[in-house]
Amino acid sequence: MNDEDSRAQCSRAGCRVAASWVIRWRNPRIHSADRWKSWAACDDHREYLREFLAARSFPLDVTPLNQAASGP
Ligand SMILES: [Zn+2]
Repeated sequence: MNDEDSRAQCSRAGCRVAASWVIRWRNPRIHSADRWKSWAACDDHREYLREFLAARSFPLDVTPLNQAASGP
């Protein structure tokens, strides 16, 4: 029973589209090295969110949400 995995919604404010991507990131100033945050992103906002984090030089990792699931 993990709602976050089965029906993730885009993390962009105001966007309610089902997410297709997971962006894992951390803020080196406030997070310890093993503490990562996760944002879900739809196709439209993946680049927006990635650039938001990249502009702050945060380490980040983008992976397809469905890579472990079946279906289109
Ligand atoms: Zn979105």
